[in-house]
Amino acid sequence: MLIQIVPTRKAYYNELIRYKIPAAAKLSRTSYAVTSTGNVILINSEELSRKHLAFTSPHEMTHQYQIEKYGAEILKKRSWMEQDADYHAEKISGYNKYQ
Ligand SMILES: [Zn+2]
Repeated sequence: MLIQIVPTRKAYYNELIRYKIPAAAKLSRTSYAVTSTGNVILINSEELSRKHLAFTSPHEMTHQYQIEKYGAEILKKRSWMEQDADYHAEKISGYNKYQ
């Protein structure tokens, strides 16, 4: 698993393209982190506080684990995936992004 943290939205876009992540242009505008099924986690830290960055890393790592454990079928249960990843990320980082 590769975790790559980039400092700007532009660098995030460039890396999304380099890793051939689908819908890179849209994702670069609407997200700050992506987990691909190719074992790559890409995070744009430009707009994240240190606490939120500490939360986002385990959140995305949980997605890698979910995909590894359950296969691509789990991508159909997006709501469960996000809640599960938030739960683990909050336990690990001590940060709740909703507070
Ligand atoms: Zn997520």
